[in-house]
Amino acid sequence: MGIVVQKYGGSSVADPAAIKRVARRIVQAKKAGNDVVVAVSAMGDTTDELLDKARAVSPLPPARELDMLLTAGERISMALVAMAISDLGFSARSFTGSQAGVITDSVHGKAKIIDVTPGRIQEAIADGHIVIVAGFQGVSQDTKEITTLGRGGTDTTAVALAAALKADVCEIYTDVDGVFTADPRIVPAARKLDTVTYEEMLELAACGAKILHLRCVEYARRYDIPIHVRSSFSQLTGTLVRGSIDDLTHQPQEGSSMEAAIIAGVAHDRSEAKITVVGVPDKVGEAARIFTALAEAQINLDMIVQNVSAAATNLTDISFTLPRTDGQTAMTALAGLQATIGFESLLYDDKIGKVSLIGAGMRSHPGVTAKFFSAIADAGVNLGMISTSEIRISVVVDEADVDAAVAATHTAFDLDATEVEAVVYGGSGR
Ligand code: ADP
Ligand code: ASP
Ligand code: MG
Repeated sequence: MGIVVQKYGGSSVADPAAIKRVARRIVQAKKAGNDVVVAVSAMGDTTDELLDKARAVSPLPPARELDMLLTAGERISMALVAMAISDLGFSARSFTGSQAGVITDSVHGKAKIIDVTPGRIQEAIADGHIVIVAGFQGVSQDTKEITTLGRGGTDTTAVALAAALKADVCEIYTDVDGVFTADPRIVPAARKLDTVTYEEMLELAACGAKILHLRCVEYARRYDIPIHVRSSFSQLTGTLVRGSIDDLTHQPQEGSSMEAAIIAGVAHDRSEAKITVVGVPDKVGEAARIFTALAEAQINLDMIVQNVSAAATNLTDISFTLPRTDGQTAMTALAGLQATIGFESLLYDDKIGKVSLIGAGMRSHPGVTAKFFSAIADAGVNLGMISTSEIRISVVVDEADVDAAVAATHTAFDLDATEVEAVVYGGSGR
């Protein structure tokens, strides 16, 4: 008998009817002879609604209390799913992240899982129960406080459980049929990928394709757990995330072009902001000071650009992008350095978006960058910052231009499907 780990996202448990449907699906896996462990997200847009409530009482709520509040969302759905299963004549036990042994570091709001000690889960399985775990949460090893793993973190709970329980595969059930060549909400002609490598999926997730949480892909790659991303609203086979780009041969899938084999997809991200530190004295150590302060504030940066300093003034500008949610903290940390470093001012812009083209094949195909930039130019969109990795090119554009840039790139690389349009079964896209 194998262990199956499944994860149901918010849109799959949005209301009582959805919860009953999911319960039937879970029971099916149990009836097929598996031990079943399920990670669940909060119902529908509950997490966003809880965040709105927090902001309504406090503009900058204490991180500890915010985690207490947000973890309640997943507790509601775990209990309701367990009840719906018991209504079908099967026994289920729900556990909070802490009870399930999800041990994290102590960073509220974006804690990292450092260990999973699934003793209670294994006992419950041995007693014949279906196990339901509240996603997106754990308990800090040091402070013993309740933590959350960051938005979309239930994916990571599921993969961490799959690794700890030595499951063969982790199934992520969501509101689309798999991983597509672009967000189907923006590009209805997006194509479903049959498989995608860990490296490409890491880049897609890091570049805003919120179909999978970035850490979940990192975890799956480290423990070599295949992830099957599929819809809880259909019976279709989804996308298998597995394997490395080093093992790839670029064979086009049936019905797609060679270019489609080079590119895995186009991702976009509207969650970042740009900060510019204006007039930084161009001398040794100043950039290090700026980025040390940001690191101490636990801020993850994305793109960084330093301009050539103006000869007359010997001053330079340093710009970088970061999560909008960290914008306030970063501005405060930097303002504290102004007197020491002597820079002129700080600029904050959160009306930006990032568009990224990802594909292992671009390593061996020249001209990808030229074609990407031409597609964006032809769509009348202006490029801001640019960054690249071995298998990715990203550009910053105006937030309002993101959709047009994504669609134009998708078309230029011949990714548009000729027949089926991608189906979005649920979710508000929030
Ligand atoms: P869940 O509630 O199941 O966690 P999410 O909203 O977090 O669902 O993720 C699913 C959504 O991810 C889809 O509805 C889709 O809009 C979005 N998405 C973004 N990029 C992609 C992509 N490349 N392929 C599929 N879905 C994507
Ligand atoms: N409920 C959390 C969120 O909305 C975690 C998750 O859904 O994975 O981000
Ligand atoms: Mg999600």
